[in-house]
Amino acid sequence: MRRLYNVNVKIDNDANAAALAEAKWGAGRGYRNVFCASIGTGIGTGIIFDGRIYHGRTGAAAEGGHIGIDSNGPRCNCGKRGCIETLAAGPAIGRRAGQKLSKYPKSLLGELASGNADAVTSEMVARAYAARDAAAEEVIRETLDLLAYWLGSIIDLLEPEVIVIGGGVSTMLAPFLNEIRERWQGACLNPAPMEIPLVLARYGEDAGIAGAAALCEFE
Ligand SMILES: [Zn+2]
Repeated sequence: MRRLYNVNVKIDNDANAAALAEAKWGAGRGYRNVFCASIGTGIGTGIIFDGRIYHGRTGAAAEGGHIGIDSNGPRCNCGKRGCIETLAAGPAIGRRAGQKLSKYPKSLLGELASGNADAVTSEMVARAYAARDAAAEEVIRETLDLLAYWLGSIIDLLEPEVIVIGGGVSTMLAPFLNEIRERWQGACLNPAPMEIPLVLARYGEDAGIAGAAALCEFE
């Protein structure tokens, strides 16, 4: 590419690049140490350490979505069991919600999915929650607990100055950012976790494009 077009070429993974864009121009602007998570069909994460992407030894670092939460949990796309991605990414929220239908047979959630547990999606959870459906409320509460537990560990490991979340599921989580922070107090050793802001990403579907531009500008 460089030879053919005589342009600067940078390559990185989308989550790392998105984290850089958020740290330089987006919701993490002004901070040198940023943890960025994109929660959608999976959970992609990037670490900005002292203003640069943290790559680890070979470039395989910062796979925060594959931190194990439950060794007996569901099988993940990566081959492991119980990664946070298998519990709190969009499809995982839908799957956990589907498991509530037997407990809440008359719920709006069940109605939206025509009683089919496998058909429940995270979008249905959001809709049912807005209508104060008890099954959806339980799913949301559990999701906040899972994310807070995971982010508590991230805080203990990295103590970032800010945590940025994006991706499709972040829209659903937007009203609960402070609740997640309150819950992570009990999920980490850090003495002042409430001083760490949890903010929504600036770049939505354009995170990868913004990230690519940031790579060329800063890496
Ligand atoms: Zn995994």
